[in-house]
Amino acid sequence: MTPDFDVIDAAPAEASTGPVGAHGLAAISVLQTVFGYAAFRGAQAEIVDHVCAGGDALVLMPTGGGKSLCYQVPAIVRHRADQGVAIVVSPLIALMHDQVGALEEAGVHAAYLNSSLTSEDAQRIEREMMGGRLVLLYAAPERITTPRFLAQLDSLHERGLLSLFAIDEAHCVSQWGHDFREDYLSLNVLHERYPGVPRIALTATADDLTRADIIERLQLEEARIFISSFDRPNIRYGIVEKDNARAQLLRFIQDEHDGDAGIVYCQSRKKVDETAAWLSSEGITALPYHAGLDADVRRRHQDRFLREEGLVMVATIAFGMGIDKPDVRFVAHLDLPKNIESYYQETGRAGRDGLPADAWMTYGLADVVNQRRMIDDSPAGDEFKRGQVGKLEALLALAESHDCRRVRLLAYFGEASPPCTRFQNACDNCLSPPVTWNATEAARKALSCIYRFHQNGGQRFGAGHLIDVLRGKVTDKVTQHGHASLSTFGVGADVSEGQWRAVLRQLIALGHLRTEGEYHTLELTASAREVLRGEVQLLLREATEAPSGGGRRGKTASRGSAARSADKNKAPPVPLDAEATERFSALKAWRAEVAREHNLPAYVVFHDATLAEMARAQPQSLDDIAQISGVGAKKLEAYGREILRVLES
Ligand code: ADP
Ligand code: ZN
Repeated sequence: MTPDFDVIDAAPAEASTGPVGAHGLAAISVLQTVFGYAAFRGAQAEIVDHVCAGGDALVLMPTGGGKSLCYQVPAIVRHRADQGVAIVVSPLIALMHDQVGALEEAGVHAAYLNSSLTSEDAQRIEREMMGGRLVLLYAAPERITTPRFLAQLDSLHERGLLSLFAIDEAHCVSQWGHDFREDYLSLNVLHERYPGVPRIALTATADDLTRADIIERLQLEEARIFISSFDRPNIRYGIVEKDNARAQLLRFIQDEHDGDAGIVYCQSRKKVDETAAWLSSEGITALPYHAGLDADVRRRHQDRFLREEGLVMVATIAFGMGIDKPDVRFVAHLDLPKNIESYYQETGRAGRDGLPADAWMTYGLADVVNQRRMIDDSPAGDEFKRGQVGKLEALLALAESHDCRRVRLLAYFGEASPPCTRFQNACDNCLSPPVTWNATEAARKALSCIYRFHQNGGQRFGAGHLIDVLRGKVTDKVTQHGHASLSTFGVGADVSEGQWRAVLRQLIALGHLRTEGEYHTLELTASAREVLRGEVQLLLREATEAPSGGGRRGKTASRGSAARSADKNKAPPVPLDAEATERFSALKAWRAEVAREHNLPAYVVFHDATLAEMARAQPQSLDDIAQISGVGAKKLEAYGREILRVLES
């Protein structure tokens, strides 16, 4: 069987390590007894084995691919072999708490060191670390590279108690990405000072430039590189034309994600505030998040998002990095993201738990105009601008595409993939292929009509008026300017308004048209001539006239109708009958109490999928519970009896 990932050996391997290598048995036993999972996924087995054996690794895996286990399992295996403490470099203090909480729940002795601790706690943790009793220690790069901390590492190293270094979110070392962190640059000290200690760097950022940067700056030239497929099969991609975006969003949430946790991305802070307030007024629990809010408010909102169920976060791109909440069921874009890289990263935050999730976007003419203008007006150099324009065009091509979105997305990252019709969770285009039409002639008509405006007194007009003239609509404005007598008046009556907007979006995206001033009046560019001469072919998708998702599959079809009619609560992640749904709700109520007592998000106690499986299978004994995915030995011991009690009542 060929694996669904590539292994690139920067240096020749000393010994060949197959999927179950020298440490395979110890590793699989840790996976099963500690984490309660039956088998490794994809590249995990090989990575774990390689790191257990002391090798360096660079792991490129999409969000939700299961990167954490790639260093947590080796850390446990090496700790059990008396190799001491694993140091995990993590960029966000805010998230260390939950990560450590999840490990402790699974019975793994882990801790973090950061400024949120009291000095007594910090001292206690340092003692645990120096004694080699901790299995994993999480800290931010700025702490790890202080002389004091390095001296502690020296001492551990001398005693053979430094088991490995894991560098999470390794793309932060790259100046190319938007998550660049100065402190990451100093991490090369780890290699220089402790050359024998294995290092594993992990990231979900796929592009070649970033990868090369990580290798160079972290001195990972000798590391094995593991590249997984970046496909996210459980995410359903859908892009709809904007037609009252708020109403579309509301309908999308109500119809498909009632009671689900989700993220709604907007471009501006103001729009974030307004959208959050509006969703709240419509009865949806929504909170705003952007860099303009107090740090305190931001922290509180993020905390509520992680801890509460079914909360919608309306946010700018300031929200996201390191949000490892597994049960985000949708990511919606009310504005166009900057480029496909951003789109993929932002939508990737949905469905980390592998259960069905939606990436939904609404976009329209104004988005294209805005993005294009932001690039044109920026003070950057021409070469940079051309690069940005190229990226915008690729994004628009994705939005306007009539073929498989998944194929296009993966192709953008250099990965070939068959269309997603093979999944239950196919993209909107695979689910209901749109009709296409040849818009070349229409584009010529639009441009020549604008040319007539220019001739006719030189005045400029916006898209609305242009479409009226093309469609032969006699409005006050048409009469006032005598536009009914233009030769282009009414030449496009057979093309709908929606289709005209699509034509204009394409022309702007391709740079044949641009907009000016506060009224967004349309202006021909030099390259418009190529279109007028018929040298540019435009094939467009038919505008979706349906006000909402248009042809999208309803939630009832995808999630089981019995569950949905049984109660108004959030539907379970797998289809359950009415009685099982009741058991699922009871288990969730129990879990919420446990999470509150432990001050942890509910998913750290058990994932939804694990509870749903319990509700379905109705285990009768502790042995039965142990068979369920996500139940390790510690959780079985801590919660097994209570679960049986909840299921009985
Ligand atoms: P990443 O860091 O790559 O985004 P995570 O490490 O958070 O992904 O893993 C995503 C989810 O998949 C987690 O809920 C994790 O428990 C689960 N997971 C990872 N590996 C496995 C596995 N081998 N079997 C079952 N579940 C797994
Ligand atoms: Zn598809």
